[in-house]
Amino acid sequence: MKTIKKTDEKVIFQAEVEEGLANAIRRYLSQVLVMAVDEVEIAKNDSALYDETVAHRIGLLPIKTSKAAGEKTTADIKLIVKKEGLVYAKEFDGKVNVVYGDAPITFLEKGQEIELVAKARTGKGDEHSKFSPGLMFYRNVFDIKIGGDCPKEVVEVCPKNILKSKDGKIVTVDTSKCDMCEACMEVCEKQGKDSIKITPTKELTITVESFGQLSTEDMISKSVDALRKDLADVSKGM
Ligand code: SF4
Repeated sequence: MKTIKKTDEKVIFQAEVEEGLANAIRRYLSQVLVMAVDEVEIAKNDSALYDETVAHRIGLLPIKTSKAAGEKTTADIKLIVKKEGLVYAKEFDGKVNVVYGDAPITFLEKGQEIELVAKARTGKGDEHSKFSPGLMFYRNVFDIKIGGDCPKEVVEVCPKNILKSKDGKIVTVDTSKCDMCEACMEVCEKQGKDSIKITPTKELTITVESFGQLSTEDMISKSVDALRKDLADVSKGM
């Protein structure tokens, strides 16, 4: 496995993984439990936004989810604000850690107030997208072979700048970026040549992006755990 890029919210790596397995892990992200607000009771809302809009905005806020969170984990929060200006997610009171505290909830004019209580709970992405932990996508890694008669025009058409001219030859730089658009092969074909051969390898370039509730590592490990559990249940039933 080779890590190409890693930040707090995103990891891109290359690994030899069967496409079917990668797709199953991607789909099982919808079985990973994450926290989101599911009930909002609004006592007062002087802002210009309807109660339903305020509740919808609160429901979509990503909330940090502990690794140990189970199916019945809940947390109560409240928001009591009287001020002039934007009301932010970080102004919530309670045992939740909103990922993006600077997310605006609504705007209050001078003298206006908002007062509400809400309940966050764990849920799964297949129930509602507010419980999605993030995204995963992948593509094949390609092997690019270039013949000595390759026309230099291929350098200009490659949208990923993978092909370069060096000492009169065409060479590749970072083939992991190739998305098999075939533009280079078409240039060769127009000139009656077959100078570039591109074949998929057994490796995939996999990108995992977290919405912030869980780390990318936890997203993958919890998805794999859920997949394993279902496979074990299927085996038992056979
Ligand atoms: S297939 Fe497309 S991306 Fe890949 S090397 Fe050729 S032109 Fe570049």
